[in-house]
Amino acid sequence: MSNPTEAAERGTLARPLRVAVIGSGPAGVYAADILTKSEPVKNGELVVSIDLFDRYPAPFGLIRYGVAPDHPRIKGIIQALHKVLDRGDIRFFGNVDYGTDLSLDDLKKHYDAVIFATGAIDDASLNIPGIDLKGSFGGADFVSWYDGHPDVAREWPLEAKEIAVLGNGNVALDVARVLSKHADDLLVTEIPENVYRELKKSPVTDVHVFGRRGPAQIKFTPLELRELSHSRDVDIILYPEDFEFDEASDEAIKTNNQVKTMVNTLTNWLVEQPEESTASRRLHLHFLHNPVEILGEDGAVTGIKFERTELDGTGNARGTGEFLEYPVQAVYRSIGYFGSALPEIEFDAGRGVVPNAGGRVLGADGEHLPGIYATGWIKRGPVGLIGHTKGDALETVSYLLEDLESLPVAEAPEEDAVLALLEQRGVQLTNWEGWHTLDTHEKALGENFDAAALGLDLKRERVKVVDREEMVRISRSINAGV
Ligand code: NAP
Repeated sequence: MSNPTEAAERGTLARPLRVAVIGSGPAGVYAADILTKSEPVKNGELVVSIDLFDRYPAPFGLIRYGVAPDHPRIKGIIQALHKVLDRGDIRFFGNVDYGTDLSLDDLKKHYDAVIFATGAIDDASLNIPGIDLKGSFGGADFVSWYDGHPDVAREWPLEAKEIAVLGNGNVALDVARVLSKHADDLLVTEIPENVYRELKKSPVTDVHVFGRRGPAQIKFTPLELRELSHSRDVDIILYPEDFEFDEASDEAIKTNNQVKTMVNTLTNWLVEQPEESTASRRLHLHFLHNPVEILGEDGAVTGIKFERTELDGTGNARGTGEFLEYPVQAVYRSIGYFGSALPEIEFDAGRGVVPNAGGRVLGADGEHLPGIYATGWIKRGPVGLIGHTKGDALETVSYLLEDLESLPVAEAPEEDAVLALLEQRGVQLTNWEGWHTLDTHEKALGENFDAAALGLDLKRERVKVVDREEMVRISRSINAGV
């Protein structure tokens, strides 16, 4: 195996290896970091020169636009990513859209290798009647809204008193928690002002979370499940008939500590729940409910129909032929994310990923496209915690290093060349210094927030700027001030 040092010594590449990473979420930053550390310096000179691009003006992808605002522990990962980019050996360029501002040919011209780390932001689809009714939403879209994503509508219709959330993964928990919490209890977080205003008006009383399998088959994680009980004035309601365990469940409880902890948590909540709920809002957890139809009148959601399921011994569920209906005025499906196709790259529409072998991106003929790689959710699908992305990046980078001798050589590898092209195209790119300016601006908004005017006694660390043009303007200004 050769390495960047040897490559830099090759006659054909007597310069640093130029690599573009597309997407500055954890997957992109980890890949850039690992590649930089793989053989960073020779005679005091960098032998790998990496440009990290993002379509949004701010970096950090899913951590900024996918993690719930009341999860500061996970948001803390931003600090680690920050440190990597603060080193200054990876250039960050935001507000640059692959496919619009840069084509695959542009990338190939300016870089010896490209790593796509574009993740997954869309909702997996659920093909049941009524899914297009007014009041039926994708959970991922709601997440984008409450996290202040620049490209989604600023208003969100929170008019339902009773809401169904479909799915038993952590995103369903995030969605259900944010929907059921009192807005004032979220104000301490970085939620944008428009999100606070809309949540404050929400008339919600009951949020029902439905899983299609049993309590031992949930995809939550223990910490996130337990956290549900911390919401003020929100009672958790469970149903004894949903507590069904088959052989596979017993085995999972015996062998998997996470499952055991969560089943214990749920069972304790069930046993300890008071006969009558006293809170003004309730969060119901239902299991063994497979959604079959969203019911509506005059084009709007009025209810949801499920087939009751039972476990089949292997942990899977089968229908019982019994159907149940719940009156709800909104349905959020949180049944998984789905990757978006990338222009000029093959796409596996079944799995929502770029076809690849360990991160080597494959063309229509199934052969590796020389110099093109993928990492993160666009490589392996939207599963796993943020930490898992590191191992993924390691695999992709190791293949890239293995391929060094055969990488196509960029025609215009000079660091300024790609910037000149973007400038010529009128792209208002943002950079790492600009992120610092925006970061400082958002923190100042938090510090100056007048909570007393709302009759609240709290401090805010940050208030997110949402509007894309404003983000660009602030990032490109030298001294933003507030
Ligand atoms: P997920 O963990 O894969 O959960 C998807 C859920 O949807 C499962 O319960 C699945 O049930 C259900 N489902 C799938 N198709 C369905 C259908 N047709 N009808 C009804 N239910 C259906 O996905 P996710 O919640 O989007 O999370 C993605 C990843 O991000 C996960 O690894 C998650 O842990 C992580 N994440 C972590 C946090 C955190 O706070 N730590 C927050 C958000 C996300 P089956 O099991 O029966 O298929």
